Amino acid sequence: MISTPLDHRDEPLDHREALRDVAREFTRREVVPHLQEWEDAGEVPRELHRAAARQGLLGVSFPEAVGGEGGDLLDSIALQEAMFEAGASSGLMAALFTGGIALPHLAASGNPDLVDRFVRPTLAGELIGSLAVTEPGGGSDVAAVRTTARREGDEYVVNGTKTFITSGVRADFVTTAVRTGGPGHAGLSLLVVEKGTPGLTVDRSLAKLGWHCSDTAELGYADVRVPGANLVGEEGTGFAQIAEQFVVERIALAVHAYSIAARSLALAASYTREREAFGKPLVAHQVVRHRLVEMHRRVAVARSYTHAVAARHVAGESVIAEACLAKQTGIEASSYVCDEAVQLHGGTGYLRGTEVERHYRDARILPIGGGSTEVLTDLAARLLGYTP
Ligand SMILES: Cc1cc2nc3c(=O)[nH]c(=O)nc-3n(C[C@H](O)[C@H](O)[C@H](O)COP(=O)(O)OP(=O)(O)OC[C@H]3O[C@@H](n4cnc5c(N)ncnc54)[C@H](O)[C@@H]3O)c2cc1C
Repeated sequence: MISTPLDHRDEPLDHREALRDVAREFTRREVVPHLQEWEDAGEVPRELHRAAARQGLLGVSFPEAVGGEGGDLLDSIALQEAMFEAGASSGLMAALFTGGIALPHLAASGNPDLVDRFVRPTLAGELIGSLAVTEPGGGSDVAAVRTTARREGDEYVVNGTKTFITSGVRADFVTTAVRTGGPGHAGLSLLVVEKGTPGLTVDRSLAKLGWHCSDTAELGYADVRVPGANLVGEEGTGFAQIAEQFVVERIALAVHAYSIAARSLALAASYTREREAFGKPLVAHQVVRHRLVEMHRRVAVARSYTHAVAARHVAGESVIAEACLAKQTGIEASSYVCDEAVQLHGGTGYLRGTEVERHYRDARILPIGGGSTEVLTDLAARLLGYTP
């Protein structure tokens, strides 16, 4: 019996254990048998969203008042860890839980109309939403968004282009960062733009190194007329809303990172017990055992730190810098462990369809998406006071 770095005896809560069981069972039954097919198709089916909602998985950590299942970020982490443990991929999780980045601003706005039209149906698995911040001109500098929304009577007229938008090909609505005011972050707002609105087009479905089952779109906005009622919060608060929700997104990506690392480690541990070289199982070679232990150590450290940061967030502390560090710690684990897992699988690890090969490719987006390592490190430097 091999110990796991995902040991969660520190969380004796019954409801969280039950949630983990449901999530594992759902993943084994509804996801794993079809995952390669969805990787090849470039997207996950809508029915998966409905099925996840029926199991009470889609709305975890969203308040019941907006159609969620209640719970907090630690519940959502338990759910994610369990799905990865049972064989889900980072791309699958990005596609299925895009609501996690498209909806929080709407839910937090307290606007019952936006909640009824977008949040509830998405958490019920009936609609798919995306968050569109990044543009072809740049993603790191959010305050430089160029897509404009000009007020005309009761409507906004939106013009611009967004790119790298997760679930953007399938999305029914797009929570879009737009410029309603002057330059800089104070001129940004969030506007929900519905698919089917004249002028909103999916210009390209983007092929990628990894995250194959997660569709990624380039979106065009040409004189798209959007009702003023689709404004999220006040005009000019878009940047603050995006920044606030980034904390949870970065913690979630830390969870992706150490969880695919943990899964890759489990697969490598099992493979090295079965595979023989030089007359004995690979794991009987000391150098292999020590590598597995080093992989274990990195996952365990990343998980502990991420949980500590998440618990502080749940307790109401500001953890903007710490979320950046958690993401980076998770990524250091995934970069190292996913690579080592491929190596320990030898030639088999390099083959398409081998699970460690998929995690290895999926891992590469994590230091880029949700704020690149360089940009988050600089943000942490400012917040922690390492400035001239
Ligand atoms: C698969 C995928 C899914 C995505 N999903 C979404 C989504 O759903 N919604 C969305 O809005 N965006 C999404 N993104 C976009 C993602 O958030 C951006 O790619 C990311 O923010 C980086 O922006 P960029 O690609 O424009 O790189 P750039 O900003 O052009 O940066 C390029 C490089 O320069 C570095 N750099 C930039 N500024 C500095 C600096 N000041 N100091 C040092 N180095 C710097 C960066 O770290 C990076 O290494 C996704 C991207 C991918 C690939």
